Amino acid sequence: MITFCFSCGKAIDIRDCEFEKNPKYCRYCVDENGKLKSFERKKNENIKKIKIILGYSNEFSEKLALKMMSKYPAWKNIIRQEENENEDSK
Ligand SMILES: [Zn+2]
Repeated sequence: MITFCFSCGKAIDIRDCEFEKNPKYCRYCVDENGKLKSFERKKNENIKKIKIILGYSNEFSEKLALKMMSKYPAWKNIIRQEENENEDSK
């Protein structure tokens, strides 16, 4: 059976997960303890990846990373909240 990572959308085959019956996150999105990585950590990893693969600037890579992450349940609310805060401070 296949399920999808709540943090990055990657397909997870649950037969590969010996320890968890209902994995929410793929192994790239959890830390050494099996917990979801922090928003900052995951965001920075994504920015780095975008920069290396696509060669965009820091600023653009960050925008893209946030856009990507805002599609997934693990980050949706955090990103929406940050956007609202930014709106308020304008
Ligand atoms: Zn993932």
